[in-house]
Parts: sequence; C-alpha cells; structure tokens
Amino acid sequence: MSKERHIETTAVTAGRPEMSPDAALNPPIVLTSTFHSGGPIGYGRYGNHTWTALEAAISELEGGQTLAFSSGMAAISAVFSILPIGAPVVASNQGYSGVMTLLNSFHESGRLEVRFVDVVNTDEVINAMKGAAFIWLESPTNPCLDVADLPTLISAAKKLGIGVGVDNTFATPLVQNPLAMGADIVMHSVTKFLSGHSDVLMGSLSTNDQALLKRLQDSRSFNGSIPGPFEAWLALRGLRTFPLRFNKSQENAKQLVEKLSGHKKVSRVRYPGFGAIISFEVAGTAEETQKVCDSSRLIAHATSLGGVESLWERRRRWPMESLSVPEQLIRLSVGCEHVEDIWNDIESALSSI
Ligand SMILES: *Cc1c(COP(=O)(O)O)cnc(C)c1O
Repeated sequence: MSKERHIETTAVTAGRPEMSPDAALNPPIVLTSTFHSGGPIGYGRYGNHTWTALEAAISELEGGQTLAFSSGMAAISAVFSILPIGAPVVASNQGYSGVMTLLNSFHESGRLEVRFVDVVNTDEVINAMKGAAFIWLESPTNPCLDVADLPTLISAAKKLGIGVGVDNTFATPLVQNPLAMGADIVMHSVTKFLSGHSDVLMGSLSTNDQALLKRLQDSRSFNGSIPGPFEAWLALRGLRTFPLRFNKSQENAKQLVEKLSGHKKVSRVRYPGFGAIISFEVAGTAEETQKVCDSSRLIAHATSLGGVESLWERRRRWPMESLSVPEQLIRLSVGCEHVEDIWNDIESALSSI
C-alpha cells in the first residue's frame, strides 16, 4: 500500500479517466439523454458519466459514496423526502435560510415534526434527540457562524440510533469530515467552495450506508433533481483547485478578522477560527449597513459565497432570513484577491457612513 495522499493531491487526481495511451486526461462532458441498452445506466435521469467523475472526486474527499444533485437545496430536499410523514427531526433554530424556510413549512404542514434547538447548547440538542428520527446539523452555521460540537452530538445520536446529516458547506473536507465522526450523510452546496467560481449550482450527498445511498438515489431519479453534465464538468474543474483557493481565502480571512476587530465602525466580528466566511456587525443602522455594502468597489455586493471573488451582503435584506440574525450583520465571503486590496475596499466602504 502506498501512503495516503494529501487532500491537495486528491483534489487534483480524483475522478480522472484511467491512465492509458491516448485516454483523455479529463473526463468528457457526456451530453446524452439516453444510452444504448444493456448497461447499468440506461437513461440520463438515472446516471451520467460526467456526474460519476465528479461524484468519485467528492467521495475521495469526504469518504463514502456520493450523489450529485442539481443544487444544494435539491440534495437537502432528497434527505428530508425519505423521512416518514410526521417524523421527529432535530435541527438548529438558526442556519441556512433556504433550509430554515423548508423546515418551517414542513413543520407547519405536519410533513415533519421539527424540534428547533440552539445548536451551540450541546445539552439542549441531546435532550431534543430523545425519540427523534433524525438530526440535521449545519456547522458552522450560515450566516451566524455558530459551531456545533459535532463529535459529541454525532456520537450521542448514534447511541440513540438516530440518523445524522451534516451540512459541511462552510467547513469543507479540509476542516472536518463528518462521515469519519460517524454521521450518516454529509451534504455540500457544491455551488460554494468545491466549485469555487460562482458559475454553477450543484449539491452533493455522501454516505457509507448502501441502503441509504439507494434510497437517496431513488429520490434523485424520481424527483428528477439531477445535475446537468456540463455543470458537473464545471464543478469538477473547479474542485481541482479547491484546497488552494480555500487555503488562500482562509489566510486572507484571518488577517481581515484582525483588522475588522480593531475598526471603530465594527461592533462585533464573528469568525470560528477557520474558513473563509466572516460575519461582522456594523456599528450603525440597517440603512447604514446597506450603504456599506453598496459602497464597495472590489467586493461584489451579491449573495452566495465560496468563490474566488470576495462577496458580501447584509443578510437581513432577504425577507426570509431569520429575525435572530442582526439587521447590521454583513456576511463577507473572502476571496483570493490580495488581502490589502480587500482591506482597502472594506475600509473605504466603512468610511461611507
Ligand atoms: C448555499 C447553501 C445551501 C444551499 O445550496 P444551493 O446550492 O444554493 O442550493 C445550503 N447550505 C448552506 C450552508 C449554504 O451556504
């Protein structure tokens, strides 16, 4: 056995065609809706070779086996779709707004019985797990960057026989591997760091459990929440440089956290100590905060995150964002530009108020 490779190497090598004379170095984009009969795929809603290449790469990074979906939300929806009607589910009361919206509507309609908890409060979460069927964990959370004690929560859930899904979008496999901690499913908004260029929407689920994989795959096949082959190819192309980009953005973020913390127009900085997302609060009104976001010239005022380009926004500009997110909170996705240029832009935007 050769020594286990580093993640930077895996990102470059995973999901490539076999090395043989004149084989393409990169997997081709397979644009077809159907396949000649007799094989395991058969039809384009059941499988595609370009997805398979991307899925193989994410599997090498996260462990388990992977399914690619048309978006992160499509992947999450597949997880909830396989839970029984009325199943008790534990979830954080603060997290990605799309998930919160979905869970609130499932709770109101009786589709699921959602027990919303403060995910930072480990005792509260463990108490809520009793009698539950499933726990959905996002850590760090979007946009407040709360960190759950994943190893403790996952092992408590496993002792109680509860299924565990983890949204690993913010931490990425460079920081944490939920499957290795015992989680049943790890999810990514591949749209973000894994793809990294703000040009594709994609999601993924990875699991070590064959029966679970089959149910999630059926959900994808019959709900039709499949990625396009071109998008899968773009995502895999982006994933090649994911460790490089993430490490650079993280380095930038750490420096910006220092500088933001000392700025008189910043009242609070949230940063979990790793990663490329910073949430900070402006010492001012919602309108002033909005003005800061509108005043940048390098940082794009746009939603989403995890790309090479720095983006920021006032999260509460979205009516669906949780009221527990402060009006003055700006979520900054730190890109790969030179850190001095990003800081100069932040300083000048803050000086507009
Ligand atoms: C963006 C995001 C999602 C949703 O992913 P899409 O690809 O936009 O559907 C889910 N979870 C987190 C933490 C996200 O940031």
